[in-house]
Amino acid sequence: KPIHVSELLEEVLDRFSFQFRSKQIEAVIEVKEGVEQAWMDRDQIDQVLDNLVSNALKYTAEGGSVKLIADVTEDQRFVSITVQDTGIGIPKKDLERIFERFYRVDKGRSRNMGGTGLGLSIAREMVLAHGGSIVMESEWNEGTSVTFTLPMKDSLQHLDEAQEGSEAGL
Ligand code: ATP
Ligand code: MG
Repeated sequence: KPIHVSELLEEVLDRFSFQFRSKQIEAVIEVKEGVEQAWMDRDQIDQVLDNLVSNALKYTAEGGSVKLIADVTEDQRFVSITVQDTGIGIPKKDLERIFERFYRVDKGRSRNMGGTGLGLSIAREMVLAHGGSIVMESEWNEGTSVTFTLPMKDSLQHLDEAQEGSEAGL
């Protein structure tokens, strides 16, 4: 279904407003010109965003900021959504494995943070099922940003059909 991207982002921040306030982390939304709707399974993309924002909150110290940026890709076919934080970052050597199931940076630092290390791998699967892509960039001690894309027009049809197929046992 087509979903208004700015509403989607506002609602994610609403779900985390308590955490933002209690950790004194600033939340910013930036919707670039031309961004209106994107096609998605709303429940799945909420799950993707919840994981990215909860990661950003977990790994950003008090006084930092988390920014949600929506833009249109160069080919005008996708909306890109970026979750950018000013947190501890991820070492280069871990970046390429970060989407693997159960992969977590340095057990020591992650252990007391809770979580299973599944969030990013599930997020990746859901974004790929939408025909989009997801990439992570990070600078150790400076911050992390994750960008994923969603189609602006239909093309989710094949996803719906695949789901109907599996429900019918095909
Ligand atoms: P879960 O999401 O299942 O609760 P998790 O958050 O540990 O657990 P992922 O979301 O898959 O798992 O993230 C994997 C690992 O990547 C994290 O444990 C953390 O080490 C690192 N990571 C993810 N996002 C960030 C971020 N924004 N800043 C720094 N490190 C991050
Ligand atoms: Mg997570």
